[in-house]
Amino acid sequence: MPERELRTEILRIDPEHIDMEKLSLAGKVIRGGGLVAFPTETVYGLGGDALSPLSSKKIYAAKGRPSDNPLIVHIADMEHLLCIAEEIPETALKTADAFWPGPLTMILKKTELVPHETTGGLDTVAVRMPVDAVAAELIRISGGYIAAPSANTSGRPSPTSAAHVIEDLSGKIDMILDAGDADIGLESTIVDLTEDVPTILRPGFITLSMLEDVLGEVRLDPGLLDAEAMKGVRPKAPGMRYRHYAPKAPLFVVEGEKSEVTRKIEELSAGEILKGKRVGILASDDTAGQYAEALKPGCVCIRSLGNREEDRTIARSLFRVLRDFDSGEVDVIYSEAFDTPHLGMAIMNRLLKAAGHQVIEGGR
Ligand code: AMP
Ligand code: MG
Repeated sequence: MPERELRTEILRIDPEHIDMEKLSLAGKVIRGGGLVAFPTETVYGLGGDALSPLSSKKIYAAKGRPSDNPLIVHIADMEHLLCIAEEIPETALKTADAFWPGPLTMILKKTELVPHETTGGLDTVAVRMPVDAVAAELIRISGGYIAAPSANTSGRPSPTSAAHVIEDLSGKIDMILDAGDADIGLESTIVDLTEDVPTILRPGFITLSMLEDVLGEVRLDPGLLDAEAMKGVRPKAPGMRYRHYAPKAPLFVVEGEKSEVTRKIEELSAGEILKGKRVGILASDDTAGQYAEALKPGCVCIRSLGNREEDRTIARSLFRVLRDFDSGEVDVIYSEAFDTPHLGMAIMNRLLKAAGHQVIEGGR
């Protein structure tokens, strides 16, 4: 892989009036074996030609991603699914009908067309059809198949804006398409359809109950939220093995009844401040003010993720706020738990991974 710095071109795209000339430049880069970071409705992706072993290798190198962690192949048209998936079960057709284009990835048996470099050596392929218009046009103009993991350095919080991509990958990739903030802010739901019972490998915006409504019985991969259950279990999505989404400072999630959680975070923060440390707190709209009153300003950086009643706002801001803490130079971060009704499973999955599963019980 080239060690030399690349000149990363940044092109601003208005998603309401897509400039096809700019997209065709990006398509040319991908067809020529280069890498382009682009917006999707979930997070920004780092795209390369999914059918080219060399492009996939370049993606792993730019991200510093372990090469056994497979990439998701993005398509824009249903007929392309037939070329990369060997068997398309009834469940896949129903899932596509209900959730594509959208934030949902299916695992299916792959055809010969998809190189093992793209699938991390597996005989299955992860496929998604994003709804984001810039992503869809880029996929079409690039030949139909874009391999794209999240466009961050491996291990860091996923990028929800072009600025995050620039932070991590400037000088390592050919081009970045900037079309503003990602709408959802969490990666796609992954569902494995190669098993008898469809199994969620990664929770996301499409929830368990939404999938159950369409498919009937759906399982959760063991240990999705529970680190204990992961011991001795090999997760089916190789990426779920790695510490992920992590800010630089250690992060602890405080669980329990709301008033106990805020009290515990105040107590822990006050202890750290006494030791001369700078503390970050991940709060919500209804609690942020309480901490501000209880703790000495100047030593604490309190950030609300949003309103618990509208958990889309929490999901959308999680990765951005985790990155903000890196620039704010905090020494330790405490987060409230966010077991919200709709997106709670997806939010807590990312938060617990970012925390390396360090959980503190509020009542103790
Ligand atoms: P990212 O692209 O960064 O959102 O990560 C993609 C996720 O999809 C990782 O957790 C991968 O392990 C998972 N994944 C991709 N392909 C497969 C596959 N064939 N089987 C299981 N998991 C997969
Ligand atoms: Mg990722």
